Amino acid sequence: MATLADPATQFTRMPHPAPTAAEVRAAVLADPGFGKAFSDHMVTIDWEEGKGWHNPAIGPRGPLSLDPAAAVLHYAQEIFEGLKAYRLGDGSMALFRPQANAARFNASAERLAMPALPEAMFVDAIKELVRADADWFPTVEGGSLYLRPFMIATEAFLGVRPAKSYKFIVIASPAGNYFKSGAPAVSIWVSDYTRAAPGGTGAAKCGGNYAASLVPTAEAFERGHDQVLFLDAAEHKWIEELGGMNLFFAFDDGRLITPPLNGTILPGITRDSLLALAREEGLAVSEEPYSLDAWRDDAASGKLVEAFACGTAAVVTPVGKVADRNGEFIIGSGGPGQLTGKLKARLVAIQRGEAPDPHGWVVRL
Ligand SMILES: *Cc1c(COP(=O)(O)O)cnc(C)c1O
Repeated sequence: MATLADPATQFTRMPHPAPTAAEVRAAVLADPGFGKAFSDHMVTIDWEEGKGWHNPAIGPRGPLSLDPAAAVLHYAQEIFEGLKAYRLGDGSMALFRPQANAARFNASAERLAMPALPEAMFVDAIKELVRADADWFPTVEGGSLYLRPFMIATEAFLGVRPAKSYKFIVIASPAGNYFKSGAPAVSIWVSDYTRAAPGGTGAAKCGGNYAASLVPTAEAFERGHDQVLFLDAAEHKWIEELGGMNLFFAFDDGRLITPPLNGTILPGITRDSLLALAREEGLAVSEEPYSLDAWRDDAASGKLVEAFACGTAAVVTPVGKVADRNGEFIIGSGGPGQLTGKLKARLVAIQRGEAPDPHGWVVRL
């Protein structure tokens, strides 16, 4: 049994007795989409009060057995992460900043009153799964193996308090392009709904935040947009983020701004990486509040030249159009901008091992 002091997690290994047939897997990997296909294995680690983390195991991916009173099913005590493994040009495999995901996972755990998972155990679990499912990297351009670590409260108890037992699980999904359309620039709808309020769970990566974003997102889709934009809860004025991506704004004078991490925004690892890369490009980067009114005015005057969204799943995605109840406006040419393309290319080149990695972001397996 692994204890908190163990630097290297000892997984019980149970290879899948009947893994996906090679032809079936090949068909999936040629057109994986996003989040619809899954690899053969999963990692599980249990936690119990008084016992801590124990029973790290990798085995066939399959349904969970949960008591219907399990706390996660009632009070949504659940957190998750999302990161990608890449197959590099030399055939090796690599992760991008997995320690940052581990640290954020624990920050989310703290907010949801869940136990912290040692960062080394989090990273070991991911490596274990990627090695077991190394045949699941998509063969399509831009493909990766998307990893989904998550933790649920498993205790059967209907009282409202933190559960006394949890399960940490990692599953993997071959991923192609996030946006179905493969749209060169997305259209976003400014929601009247609120995603996160001061003091709430906006900075935690928890399923509950996403449950609350489904109606606003459906509204955006119905109106013909690709994504939903949330403004701040207090004044409904300041730009926060999209349903699952952070936002950047580029100006004609070389300024690049993104909303500050004030507790209502998810601290994206892509956001953090792009901040560093943009500084290296010599841009005047700042984390400062930016209002929807300013965005509209700056887009009209031409001061604002590009805007883009970023996150692990969709990487860097240009924003072409913004709409709310009062009308819509176009960003720049309405298509992908130069800076957006350049920053995306720099990030992707590092992730794929095709460019120097001065920050030590790439972790090879
Ligand atoms: C995960 C997530 C992001 C992006 O974070 P990355 O670490 O860059 O993938 C942004 N916003 C929300 C709400 C998220 O859940």
